[in-house]
Amino acid sequence: MSTECIFCKIIAGSLTSNIVHEDNKILAFEDVNPQAPVHHLIVPKEHIPTINDLLTEHNELIGQLFQVAKTLAKKHHIAENGYRVVMNCNEKGGQAVYHIHLHLLGDRQMHWPPG
Ligand code: 5GP
Ligand code: ZN
Repeated sequence: MSTECIFCKIIAGSLTSNIVHEDNKILAFEDVNPQAPVHHLIVPKEHIPTINDLLTEHNELIGQLFQVAKTLAKKHHIAENGYRVVMNCNEKGGQAVYHIHLHLLGDRQMHWPPG
């Protein structure tokens, strides 16, 4: 838990969000500034600032983030057509919130390369 971190505040319930999934280790909620018709953020409850801070003990947790992404994609009927999951790292990777999170984006055509 970081007192400065907006995602820790959302996890603690002191900032509101539209929650789409919760279990003992993960919270997922709608992105406040969606970049696609489906845009969810899948966030571990543990405060881990960036991918660079991952330890081997986080391996199972990272797998669980992808399991939640898969489940939400199915629930929103974008699994078959396709979708994108993204995790940005540090400034040049486009990271704005320093608490790791997987973006789940779908229900529109994605392009490559990303901006
Ligand atoms: P990043 O650039 O760090 O990969 O993504 C951060 C994401 O968090 C952005 O897509 C941004 O719209 C979203 N975001 C930032 N602040 C809030 C907030 O207070 N609530 C919600 N639901 N999303 C937020
Ligand atoms: Zn945090």
